[in-house]
Amino acid sequence: MRINVSQQLKASMGSMREYEVSEIVNLASGQSMVQGEVGLMRTDRGILARGTLHTEVEVTCSRCLSLFSCPLTLNVEEEYFPIADVASGASLLVPEEPGCFTIDEHHVIDLTEVIRQYALLTIPMKPLCRGDCTGLCPDCGHNLNQGPCHCSPQGAEPRWSELSKLTLASDAVVNEQKGTE
Ligand SMILES: [Zn+2]
Ligand SMILES: [Zn+2]
Repeated sequence: MRINVSQQLKASMGSMREYEVSEIVNLASGQSMVQGEVGLMRTDRGILARGTLHTEVEVTCSRCLSLFSCPLTLNVEEEYFPIADVASGASLLVPEEPGCFTIDEHHVIDLTEVIRQYALLTIPMKPLCRGDCTGLCPDCGHNLNQGPCHCSPQGAEPRWSELSKLTLASDAVVNEQKGTE
């Protein structure tokens, strides 16, 4: 999403403009609709973009491995620095900060890269398709959200099988002791 801010760069510090955002942006997993509002404010150094945007990305559930659409809320706040003076066209120095956003020589800011970066930061590390996702059966790989599989309950629950091994082992010891008496 590109906005020409040449008029606002000529305005006094603190002047505000509101923009509706409704854009298809290429995010982590493909094309996503991004919607919301962004306010642009003239600062002493450039333009501050601030707003709340909503979108959805396709992610893989970390438990059941199914693809699902994960809603994201992006609270954007970034300052853009002009690389050219709006009146004279002379080159301006921009802060030497990594990832610093600039206003190009045509006085246009591009929100797309900011949206993409905020989306990447907002995607959960371990996404869950739903809070109570039951995941996959460790034995047959069946998605347990779609109902139980045909594995035995002992097989499906590793803790139970560990317990039954312990019981068998202690039984064996008891039998050996009996044998030596
Ligand atoms: Zn899941
Ligand atoms: Zn199973």
